[in-house]
Amino acid sequence: MIAEVISIGDELTSGQRLDTNSQWLSERLGELGVRVMYHSTVADDLAANVAVFRHAVQRADIVVASGGLGPTADDLTREAIAEVAGKPLILDEASLEYIRGLFARFKRDMPERNRVQALFPEGSQIIFNPNGTAPGIWIDIPRTAGGVCHVFALPGVPAELFEMFKATVAPAVLSYQDVPRLIRHYRVKVFGAGESHVEQMLPDLIRRGREPSVGITVSAATITLRITASGATPEECLAMIDPTVGTIRECLGNLVYGDEDDELEDAVVRLLKSHSKTLCTVEYATAGIMAEWLSRASAREECYLGGHVIRSTAMLESELGDSASLIQSAGPSSREVVETLASICRARSGADYCLVVGPFPEPTAADPAPPYHFALATPDKIMVKASNMAGHNSIWLPRAAKAALNLLRLELLGAMH
Ligand code: ATP
Ligand code: MG
Repeated sequence: MIAEVISIGDELTSGQRLDTNSQWLSERLGELGVRVMYHSTVADDLAANVAVFRHAVQRADIVVASGGLGPTADDLTREAIAEVAGKPLILDEASLEYIRGLFARFKRDMPERNRVQALFPEGSQIIFNPNGTAPGIWIDIPRTAGGVCHVFALPGVPAELFEMFKATVAPAVLSYQDVPRLIRHYRVKVFGAGESHVEQMLPDLIRRGREPSVGITVSAATITLRITASGATPEECLAMIDPTVGTIRECLGNLVYGDEDDELEDAVVRLLKSHSKTLCTVEYATAGIMAEWLSRASAREECYLGGHVIRSTAMLESELGDSASLIQSAGPSSREVVETLASICRARSGADYCLVVGPFPEPTAADPAPPYHFALATPDKIMVKASNMAGHNSIWLPRAAKAALNLLRLELLGAMH
């Protein structure tokens, strides 16, 4: 079975709003074992809507549309579907009463225009909307080549669409399949090696046609391995995914820091908590993103004490105090400055660990890619690392923050000894 997702609205085709409904609907349809082959986005124009639905009905088994079910003159979905199905729009008294009742609850009379929301193409079923005035439409439209296309039209408001899809569309889609094949994904998160290196370490896994399949994607130096399995039940899918996760963990060891929505800071906070240790940060190049990430990840924990953000030499001097002359003698981005900052700030904060990211140095003609430094002060030592600002400058900042967090993660795992 293949599906088409249609998004309707001028605000989408004009670029004022991003079409997130298509993304959500496609993910859900994929989980139900249905391949989404087409996305169409169309403006609030009747002829254009009719053309899009007419085309979709012929080339897909399932069509899920969102938007254009409101009461205003630019809401044309019900008319378009009626025209494509060749059916008249008929008033549904029960829906009209329901919509009237919604207005009555707020002590208002129903505007005459809302009456159109109780109109449905003849032969369609009504998809109940518990959260709004726009019911959805469910209609089977015959195709010229034989068979029918199952068309579902849902309102554009995401929260309404989500609930109506789960309650009505998902069970219907499952019932269309002789042997339902659900699809489930699981993500393993990796940091500390390049994409191709990780791929090499998983010789047999990232092969096309493997069951379950493993895909690899990178975002600002974080690698995500996405495992996809299909089976008759969610449990069957998970049972297939488990051994693959095990193999990945075995092959990649400490490069794996978490799964699903985990970020490096979540892994760091978990480790700090389990060791009952505390952390402070000092950031120059990373402009406070470590502090932001760690604050969010440790929301209700006390392991992250806080951090400084330095954006000037004056502030760097004041943090270094008696050692400020290092800025002149060794340079602001030097190993010495970063190491000394880590030691001073750890002692001053009372934290067990202090993580420091120094400034990015200015490239010169002689050295177009000079290294920056980051450091970790622990109760018994200070580690300093150098790294280069390679790649596009939009990822220097998150990558530097992640590299620093990863240094602490590995130290907390005991992997640095
Ligand atoms: P309503 O009864 O609320 O008018 P409707 O079916 O007419 O329902 P629209 O008017 O098209 O829906 O959109 C309602 C809201 O949902 C708008 O804020 C719109 O921006 C948002 N919306 C519509 N389509 C999408 C989409 N594809 N992705 C994200 N948001 C959307
Ligand atoms: Mg509307």
